[in-house]
Amino acid sequence: PRVVFSGIQPTGIPHLGNYLGALAPWRQIQRDAVPDDVLLFSIVDMHALTTRPEPEKLRKRSWRGLASLLAVGITPETRMERGVQVGVFFQNQLPRRMELMWILSCLTSMGNLSRMTQWKSARAAQKLGLFSYPVLQAADILIHGATHVPVGEDQAQHLEFARDLADTFNHLYSPTKPILLPPQTLISPAKRVRSLTDPARKMSKSDPSDWSRILLTDSPEVIQEKIRYATTDSIQGGTSYDPVHRPGIANLIDILTWMYELKLRREGRNYDFAELKADTIKFAVPMRLKLLKGVVAQAVSDELMPFRVKYEWLTKSPDGRRELQEARWAGGKMATLGTALKLSEVREAVGLVRSR
Ligand code: ATP
Ligand code: MG
Repeated sequence: PRVVFSGIQPTGIPHLGNYLGALAPWRQIQRDAVPDDVLLFSIVDMHALTTRPEPEKLRKRSWRGLASLLAVGITPETRMERGVQVGVFFQNQLPRRMELMWILSCLTSMGNLSRMTQWKSARAAQKLGLFSYPVLQAADILIHGATHVPVGEDQAQHLEFARDLADTFNHLYSPTKPILLPPQTLISPAKRVRSLTDPARKMSKSDPSDWSRILLTDSPEVIQEKIRYATTDSIQGGTSYDPVHRPGIANLIDILTWMYELKLRREGRNYDFAELKADTIKFAVPMRLKLLKGVVAQAVSDELMPFRVKYEWLTKSPDGRRELQEARWAGGKMATLGTALKLSEVREAVGLVRSR
C-alpha cells in the first residue's frame, strides 16, 4: 500500500509557490487516492525552529499552517469513509522521530550535508540545526515508512539524501530484510514559482520582502499590486516568453498556465499540458505587459478565492477553531500508528538494549 508523506514549515503564511509545488498536488493526491492509501501531511514545526522564530509567532504560524492545509481542501479522512486515511498534524506531536534522527545522524557524513543547496544558500548565521535539517527530514519520512513524498523541485536533493540514508542503514544493519524504505519523490513537473522581485530565486516564505510572494490569504487588491510591481525586464519592449533572458515575464506566463490547468482540472476536463502551455503563451505574447499582469492577477485571485473564505472561517470562528483542534488530534493519532513498531525494529537492529 501507498504511504504518502510530506510537510510544510510554519515559517509564514503559505504562498503561491507552496500552493503550486505542494498544497495543490497534495489535494490532488487525496482526490485520486484509492483504498488502503495512507496520506500524512505535517506542519514541520521542529524544522521551523532552525529559523529561531519568536515562540508566540511559531505557535501562531503553526496553527495557521494547519488551517492552510484544510483551507486548500485537504480533509482529514478515516478508513471508514473510502478506505483511505488522511491525517494532518504537527511534527512535534510525534517526538519518536527525534530518536531516529540521532541514529541516522551517526551514519551521516558532514561532507555530504555541506553539499546541500539549502545549507549553502542560507543567508543567516549557520547553526547545527540547519546543517542537520535533511537528517530530521529523512527521519520524518522513514519513520512513517513513506513510499511517496510529494515535494517541490527545491527538495529533490534532500529526498535523494533520505533514500541514500535508508540504503546505508539497511546495508549496515539489516542487509537481508530492509527496515527503512527508500521513498520515491513525486515532483509536480517543473512547478517552480519564482520570486516576484528577484526571478533568479524561488518564491519563499523566508524572503525578507513581502513583495516577493503572493500569500494565499492576499486580497485581490493586494494580488493586483504585487503583480503590477513584479520585476519584469523591459530591455525589449513588449512581451515574449523567454525563461532564460526574461525570467520575470516567463514566471508570470507560467503562473497563468498553471492557473488555467487547475481550472481545467476542477472542471474535470481533459487537456494536454504541452498544448495548454503553448496556447497560453500564444494568448499572452501579443498583450502589453500591463494588460498581461492584470490578466495574471485576476486568474490568481479567482483561483485563491475559495481558500480565503475557508481560511477565514477556520481561523476566526469557534466552529472553525474546533475543526482545527479535532484535525490535529485525529491526525496525530493516525500518524503515530506504526512509528513505535518501526522505531523498535531500528533500536533492535543497531544493538540498543531493550528498554523493557
Ligand atoms: P522557507 O523559505 O521558510 O523554507 P518555503 O517557501 O521554502 O519556506 P517550505 O515550507 O520550505 O516553504 O516548503 C513547503 C513545500 O513547498 C515544499 O514541498 C517545497 O518544495 C515547496 N515549495 C517551496 N517554495 C516553492 C516554490 N517557489 N515553487 C514551488 N514549490 C515550492
Ligand atoms: Mg523551504
